[in-house]
Amino acid sequence: MNICVVGTGYVGLVTGAVFADLGNDVVCVDKLRAKIDSLKAGHMPIYEPGLEEMVARNVGDGRLTFTTDLPAGVRQSDVIFIAVGTPPRETGETDLSHVEAVAAEIGRTMDRYKVVVNKSTVPVGTGELVREVVARHQPAPIEFDVVSNPEFLREGSAIEDTLRPDRIVIGAPNQHAAMRLVELYAPLERPMIITDLPSAEVIKYASNAFLAAKISFINAIANICESAGADVTQVMKGMGLDNRIGSAFLQAGLGYGGSCFPKDVDSLIHTAGRLGYDFKLLKSVVEINRERAGRLVEMIRKVLGPMDDKTVAVLGLAFKPNTDDMREAKSVEVIQQLHGAGATVRAYDPVAADNAHPLLPEGVIYSASPYEAAQDADAVVLVTEWNEFKFLNLERLRSVLRRRAIFDGRNIWEPDRMRRLGFEYYSIGRKPVIPS
Ligand code: NAD
Repeated sequence: MNICVVGTGYVGLVTGAVFADLGNDVVCVDKLRAKIDSLKAGHMPIYEPGLEEMVARNVGDGRLTFTTDLPAGVRQSDVIFIAVGTPPRETGETDLSHVEAVAAEIGRTMDRYKVVVNKSTVPVGTGELVREVVARHQPAPIEFDVVSNPEFLREGSAIEDTLRPDRIVIGAPNQHAAMRLVELYAPLERPMIITDLPSAEVIKYASNAFLAAKISFINAIANICESAGADVTQVMKGMGLDNRIGSAFLQAGLGYGGSCFPKDVDSLIHTAGRLGYDFKLLKSVVEINRERAGRLVEMIRKVLGPMDDKTVAVLGLAFKPNTDDMREAKSVEVIQQLHGAGATVRAYDPVAADNAHPLLPEGVIYSASPYEAAQDADAVVLVTEWNEFKFLNLERLRSVLRRRAIFDGRNIWEPDRMRRLGFEYYSIGRKPVIPS
């Protein structure tokens, strides 16, 4: 099949590479010339495990190309995926200007029947909007269909998620359009659900909002555990073994960040409001999430006292492990607050330091290793649970610290082990370890 994917970000680039890998001819379009030039030169604009190899293989085999020429991409394709950004506005409403711009261009250049697929996360009703924009910009009426095919991949495991999704959602206005997508995805041999267009759009937001709610729920339980002397990790295990609940997204910590959950939850609250429903439950999910970084910093300040003569090593900057994405990363809030309180902050992340730099206060020192960050520091604050932190040489870490205090924002270490190693250890929803 000839496919055009518009937008070569996390979603578009991975989608394009995977479709090419399945044997399709794919042209990936982006409006950023620098991005396309660097992709043509074999450099990935994002860090995503396995992506570079997959792109190189398919470019080498002639199935995957990159261009800034959207009209050319549209003309040579039967199916066009819109995978551009849908950032939030101040109000929480979704900014659809990129989607609309692409839809207009598709309409202007469409020369025969096409299936236009919304892969970007867009509020319910956007499929209809895209239909209207495409039709309005056609020089002469040509038949086309708009399909919603929301994306559920997670950064850090995007290739794997795209190859083996739990389900593929296809919201189509008719069987013919639905079958084009079914045909395209058939080689993956994964469950597909075909719905009407608005239902597919709602499935995406409802899924993300539900997962965000699970995270905020367990964090609220963690708050209770802290006051009651209970252990949230044990509570989570006891809850998660219930098949009706499940353990996924039930880890207490600093809360959710990233390019999707915060904006998608805000967008659903906004959409609900527009449709006349006050989504109080989700408003609380947001509120609980907003408090997380502040609670951790408050704990640090209580333990360390005045911060202006303190040095703190922050481990992990990316919004989650295995990505260099800093959008809505909790590290930004934590570091801003520590810095604001007068602390000297030394930061380390395996891949996200360059992206973090413009977002963090001046004066933050970037270290080449966790041990360099912790050298003579008064505390270590774990913000992102990269695997390499789980396997840190804790004896070495202990030997370089001035004060052996660890604040674990993701509960990656066992309190008993930290006690044996002689650390002061503070984590989320669990009793602190304070050496006698
Ligand atoms: P991104 O910001 O990484 O990439 C978007 C790309 O679109 C950019 O390269 C931008 O230059 C390009 N673009 C914007 N306007 C364009 C235009 N007119 N013509 C051509 N290119 C244009 O975004 P992303 O993270 O890939 O997300 C894309 C969509 O997928 C969003 O709606 C997002 O909510 C959704 N989504 C993202 C993820 C994720 O983990 N990142 C997961 C599921 C869904």
